[in-house]
Amino acid sequence: MQIANLIGNLQSAICISSDALLSVVLAPSCAACDEPLLQPTRGPICDPCWRSVLPLTPPLCDRCGDPLPTWRVVSIPLACCARCRRTRRVLDRARAIGAYDGALRAIVQALKYEGRRSLARPLGRLMRERGADLLAGAACVVPVPLHPSRRRQRGFNQAADLAHHVGLPVVAALRRVRATATQTGLPAGRRHRNVRGAFAPTGAAAALTGSAIVLIDDVSTTGATLEACASALKAAGVQEVRALTAARVVTSPR
Ligand SMILES: [Zn+2]
Ligand SMILES: [Zn+2]
Repeated sequence: MQIANLIGNLQSAICISSDALLSVVLAPSCAACDEPLLQPTRGPICDPCWRSVLPLTPPLCDRCGDPLPTWRVVSIPLACCARCRRTRRVLDRARAIGAYDGALRAIVQALKYEGRRSLARPLGRLMRERGADLLAGAACVVPVPLHPSRRRQRGFNQAADLAHHVGLPVVAALRRVRATATQTGLPAGRRHRNVRGAFAPTGAAAALTGSAIVLIDDVSTTGATLEACASALKAAGVQEVRALTAARVVTSPR
C-alpha cells in the first residue's frame, strides 16, 4: 500500500514537474486562443477554450440540426427549418458538437491544418456525448473519405481520426472517385455541383444494406459533401444515413 502511495506521489510529482518544465522550456500556447498553456501535458487546448465550446441552442431542425426560432416548433408538428422543407434531402438527420465558430473553429482547424491529431480524441468524445441520440441504433460510423492525393498531401484523414473516437465500429464504406476543388470559398450551389458523383461505395458497403449508419466529418458547411456521400450509400442499399460532424456552419434561423 505504501509502495503504491509512493509511486502515486512520484507520478504526480513527475507530471507536475514535466508540466512546469514544458511551460518554461517550450512555453507552448493554446492552439485556439494563443494564451500560455498552464498544463501543456493535457493537450494543446486550454480548459477555458474547451469550456467555451457550447452546444447549439435547441430547438433544432430535426433534419439538418440548425437552431430553429422557438415559435416555429409550436406552430408546426415537425420541427424543420425552412431550407429543409424547401429542399429534398437524402441525408436523414444531422448533428454537430456546436457552431463552427470561436474556439471550436480554431480546434477543428488545428486538427485539420496543423496536424494536431491528438485533438481527434477529445473532439470525438464530445461528438459521442452531444450526438448520443443520433448514434443510437446505428450499425457503424463511416468517415467521409479524402481523395488519395489530398490524403497523401495531408498525411491523414481528419474524419477517419474523429470516427475512431465516436464509439461505434468504423467502416470505410466510401471512396472518393474524383478529386474535387476545395469547397472553401464556393457558394452553396457550386458546392453541390462540385461534389456530385465524387463518392462511390467500397466493397464494405455491401454489408450495410438495410442498416442505419452515421457519416463522420469535421465540418458541415452547406451539407453538400454529406449529401453526396448519403446518395452514394443509399444507392448501395443503406437504409438510413445520418451525419455527425465536429462543427456546423449555422445559417441564421428562418
Ligand atoms: Zn485557449
Ligand atoms: Zn434543417
